[in-house]
Amino acid sequence: MSQPRSNNAVLVLGDQLSLDNPALRPPEGRFPSDVTVLMIESSAESTLVWVHKARIALFISAMRHFADLLRQNGYQIVYSNLDETGALTLVERLAELCVQHGVQALRLAEPGEWRLEQSLVEFSKTQSLPLTFLEDTHFMCSRAQFAKWASGYKQMRMEYFYREMRKRFKVLMAAGESSSEPLGGQWNFDSENRSAFPKAGPGEIAPPAQFPPDHITLQVIEEVRARFPDHPGELDHFIWPVNREQALQALNQFIQTRLPQFGDYQDAMWTNTPFGWHSLVSSSINLHLLDPREVIAAAEYAYRDGKAPLAAVEGFIRQVLGWREFIRGVYWLDMPKMRQDNFLKADQPLPNWFWTGNTQMACMKDSIGQTLKYGYAHHIQRLMVIGNFALMAGIVPQQVEDWFLAVYVDAVEWVELPNVAGMALFANGGRFTSKPYIASGAYIKRMSNYCGNCKYKSDEKTGPRACPMTTLYWGFLDKHEAMLKANPRTSLMAKNISRLEEGQRQALIEQVQLTLKNLESL
Ligand code: SF4
Repeated sequence: MSQPRSNNAVLVLGDQLSLDNPALRPPEGRFPSDVTVLMIESSAESTLVWVHKARIALFISAMRHFADLLRQNGYQIVYSNLDETGALTLVERLAELCVQHGVQALRLAEPGEWRLEQSLVEFSKTQSLPLTFLEDTHFMCSRAQFAKWASGYKQMRMEYFYREMRKRFKVLMAAGESSSEPLGGQWNFDSENRSAFPKAGPGEIAPPAQFPPDHITLQVIEEVRARFPDHPGELDHFIWPVNREQALQALNQFIQTRLPQFGDYQDAMWTNTPFGWHSLVSSSINLHLLDPREVIAAAEYAYRDGKAPLAAVEGFIRQVLGWREFIRGVYWLDMPKMRQDNFLKADQPLPNWFWTGNTQMACMKDSIGQTLKYGYAHHIQRLMVIGNFALMAGIVPQQVEDWFLAVYVDAVEWVELPNVAGMALFANGGRFTSKPYIASGAYIKRMSNYCGNCKYKSDEKTGPRACPMTTLYWGFLDKHEAMLKANPRTSLMAKNISRLEEGQRQALIEQVQLTLKNLESL
């Protein structure tokens, strides 16, 4: 470990790996060599929940690559690796390093996790060490700006926020300097982005950029195998960008070869098709290896250059400029309550097969299987297969949230928690969604080929071959009938349950009880 020259230090967290990190800017008239940067690998964070091996490897490898980049740029680095940190938490190790290196003031960009921010504030108080959080300019909408926007609405809706962001940043706007009209005459092309793959299958899909581990990543993988042998997930298929050059290459390959088809098929699922036409850049953006502005600009340019249709480009940009920024704003507005919310009083334990993929439900087996293999599943697999099942089975939200945070390489709490608690599980009672998102086996059958390879029958809600998705869907309608009836967006759905004859309803209730009793062996 090298000795820092300054007692004013910068802390760079594992998901703040950008040279544009505002904390890295040298003070007026000073140079990078005058800035001491602390970086800490901590295994305590990985063992709080049972984190996927690939997620641990990605974060640590990306941190080590970034530390090298900072050294090349002249910064003074104090780096604590897994061995040096031992069993200490990040904040405990930070306290040690501050003493060892005589640090008297610390600054960092706002953390992405509420609990860590609280711990750092506490640390600053107990150590009497001044701590400055700088606005994280990686994000296009600051926490304060979002809070101001949200205060103007009774119910927060992403669509309105997204339109504001389009206008504010002049993204996909019609010609004319002061135009406030969207390109193509509509803000949202979602209805054009919901195709299933053809019956014969997805055909040939242009492959995403994949990055075999370099020497740093190989070393990290070896350490992760040795240190976390019982953690879920595989390391044999590690393909993720670990530095900015790779992240840019991944973005470029997506824009050039996959974006045009991404729009049509972004909701489609198919066995052994883990990536479809998706971008696979979410982990790079969330680690800050990519800036959202450059990602959006690259997609918009592809449209203006005639390389990709507007519906595909708009659908992609909505995820980055709209949903991602919206979700981050909601997280900071609603924490820490969001972490405790359980509006539907869900009380079932998470089945053990979430950690192994050993289930007879083909849709869950494929979605969880590829999650354990790569640390990745696309948004419909996460929301409408895995999240949908967890919502309808009434699994305790905090257990589902922990699972999602643990198993995806792109999961950081500000993005994962609102998506799972708010969007997938309706655990906050519809704070920013207009209804619970539930679907029966019929939806999964329409959007995938999973049901053809399943022991269950997607259209049967009772009986020995009843599809658990369909049974639980009807069970959800039965249990929450009054709530669904009162909501104009779900009242039609609720009518279906009231049409069942008494005998049918009783058989359904018994099938739901049986399904919940046998959750572990589905
Ligand atoms: Fe999933 Fe049901 Fe289809 Fe099986 S039949 S794949 S459980 S939706």
